[in-house]
Amino acid sequence: MAGRVEGKVALITGGARGQGRAHALALAREGADVAICDIATGSDPTTPYGLAVADDLARTQADVEALGSRCVAVTADVTRFAELEAFVAATLERLGRIDVVVANAGIFSGGVPSWELTEAQWDRMLEVNLKGVWLTCKAVVPHMLGQGSGGSIVLTSSIGGLVGTPGMAHYVAAKHAVIGYMRSLANEVGAHGIRVNAICPGGVDNAMMNNQAMYATMAGGQGGDRQTMLAAVGSISLLPGGLIENEDVANAVVWLASEESRWVTGVALPVDAGINVKL
Ligand code: NAD
Repeated sequence: MAGRVEGKVALITGGARGQGRAHALALAREGADVAICDIATGSDPTTPYGLAVADDLARTQADVEALGSRCVAVTADVTRFAELEAFVAATLERLGRIDVVVANAGIFSGGVPSWELTEAQWDRMLEVNLKGVWLTCKAVVPHMLGQGSGGSIVLTSSIGGLVGTPGMAHYVAAKHAVIGYMRSLANEVGAHGIRVNAICPGGVDNAMMNNQAMYATMAGGQGGDRQTMLAAVGSISLLPGGLIENEDVANAVVWLASEESRWVTGVALPVDAGINVKL
């Protein structure tokens, strides 16, 4: 039986681990060839937990290939346009086309009120989580238009793109802006059959949630641990169960990438256990 994205080529940023890795594997399982990039430096000066490393990128590439799909894996920082252009060029050279884009790379920092954020934290947050999304589309969209066969672009926003939360104002500002950008881009490329949507995950059980800075943020600024973080997420969710898994978000991405969602564009889709509508 043909996969749900059989024969398509999907380009994913931040694909070494976490949600990006889950997207790569889920799309490959459904028949896509995959291109992933990641900064893979292991750290960022403003980010209070480790980023992916080269081994993560290589492991995801090997696991995609083990599923029978081709996989291009490139080290690239989404804030550097030349690196994204090289990533896109490598994808087109080896995989021939790009049908699906998942602008997923992102960072978290915070745990303090907005007036205590440093300019470095604010600037890097907006640079990676907003400008990086725009640069990714800037690098890919001209090629998708040139192909003339439409496509699906998925931008990773967050529950923080839909509601305000304390202790991460710069993250919330960037993720709200991603939704604004998604709505504009959807208008610009809709006539070419290119759909643009955003996904808005709640807390996802991976490295971005499981670190002391996030525990403190969820505890209101200080202290906290995984248990208090889980309790805090539970208290703001409609559904029981706590954090969602990378694969839960990947399921939504596969649907948005596939023809099953062919009339869906301009949507900010929460995958958040109902946090955005909780009274
Ligand atoms: P993660 O930290 O596991 O994955 C993020 C990936 O992006 C990492 O592999 C990291 O190395 C990479 N990255 C960071 N900066 C980069 C850059 N400048 N260039 C290229 N790659 C870079 O966390 P995740 O949850 O998988 O994050 C994926 C996306 O989901 C992010 O945009 C994040 O903001 C968003 N998100 C996360 C959660 C959560 O609870 N984890 C919730 C909502 C939204």
